[in-house]
Amino acid sequence: MKIGNALYFDHQATTPLDARVLDKMRPYLEDSFGNPHSSDHNFGWCAAQAVDDASRQVAQLIGADSDEIVFTSGATEANNLALLGLARKAARDTRQNILLGTSEHKSVLAVGHVLESQLGYKVKHIPVDCHGHVLLDQLYEIINDDVFFISIMAVNNEIGTIQRLKTISDIARQHGVIFHCDAAQAPCATDLSKITEHVDLLSLSAHKMYGPKGIGALYARRELQNLVEPMIYGGGQQNNLRSGTIPTALCVGMGTAAELMASPQALAERLAIANLRDQFVEKLQSLPWPIEINGPMLGRDRHPGNANLRFDGFSAHEILGALQPRLAASTGSACTTGIPEPSHVLMEIGLTPDQADSSIRFSIGRFTTKQDIEEAAELVADALSRIANAGIVQTA
Ligand code: PMP
Repeated sequence: MKIGNALYFDHQATTPLDARVLDKMRPYLEDSFGNPHSSDHNFGWCAAQAVDDASRQVAQLIGADSDEIVFTSGATEANNLALLGLARKAARDTRQNILLGTSEHKSVLAVGHVLESQLGYKVKHIPVDCHGHVLLDQLYEIINDDVFFISIMAVNNEIGTIQRLKTISDIARQHGVIFHCDAAQAPCATDLSKITEHVDLLSLSAHKMYGPKGIGALYARRELQNLVEPMIYGGGQQNNLRSGTIPTALCVGMGTAAELMASPQALAERLAIANLRDQFVEKLQSLPWPIEINGPMLGRDRHPGNANLRFDGFSAHEILGALQPRLAASTGSACTTGIPEPSHVLMEIGLTPDQADSSIRFSIGRFTTKQDIEEAAELVADALSRIANAGIVQTA
């Protein structure tokens, strides 16, 4: 996708708003501005109807019912609500262990620290293999009837690994362990229509699926909702799980985005994106520098738009700088940008700090064209030559 002269290859940081989503949102930012909780007039009823429809659309994406959807400000809040909510409500004398994947997003890992330091739980981390898949034998070893819940992401935001959620769920169920899944990156990567058969709580974010920023959702299985303590108290909206006026337009945006993601065209879209991604990688790998793929092989186990590539001997920041302002990509997770540490995900899959510092995540999406791929590959080739000619390539 090209905006002016700039190519956008950072869809896993955020996706552009789909014009069809904006069209559906617009009336709720204009004349239909009523408060969905105003029960005495038509403005309120219209907004409430729009929120109900949006809940249904989000629920349909994941095979849930509308009353199992709690709108939040994003996946960060949904992750916090799930993990802190369960932990704060549970009786002190029950299961005291919590399991988290090591390559989870910071909004899960940081909550893990709070669960340990403030709430007294024992948090254990399950390692991943060199492709980012949770090590199932380690999970088997660690899990037992003292584990309260487990949180494993559906799709990794840096290297695109698609986890084997069914197997993880089967293991969790053998021990009566609640399973939370951060699925923020999943709608663009895989079919989620049956995912609630395997998970008990699940987090989503609208801005990772061509919806607006500032809204996400937590799916909480109906029977588990009374096990979750809210984080925000007030008027008791959303079944007491998240007080505050629901932002109608944002919900409509998320609902529409979810409906597009669940449409019959979604599979073809994922295949087309994967095909373009593969062409991009192939073009780069034909350049006269060694360029490796971090994470799983290109194929079924990987987010179709994700290419996390390693340019050994080069600095990722140097390359990204040389690409400005023509091509936007990133070093791993945007949420940790600013922290001068190598990506924890890349370290967990076995890269050295130098290799992590040479890695760039390119992520393409719905509006990326073949021409974008060709231009982007040329821009990267040009950036690499300029850096190499300037002599700032480190020898490995
Ligand atoms: N989890 C994952 C896997 C993500 O990629 C992100 C966004 N980087 C989040 C959670 C947080 O989502 P949000 O921006 O909606 O808070």
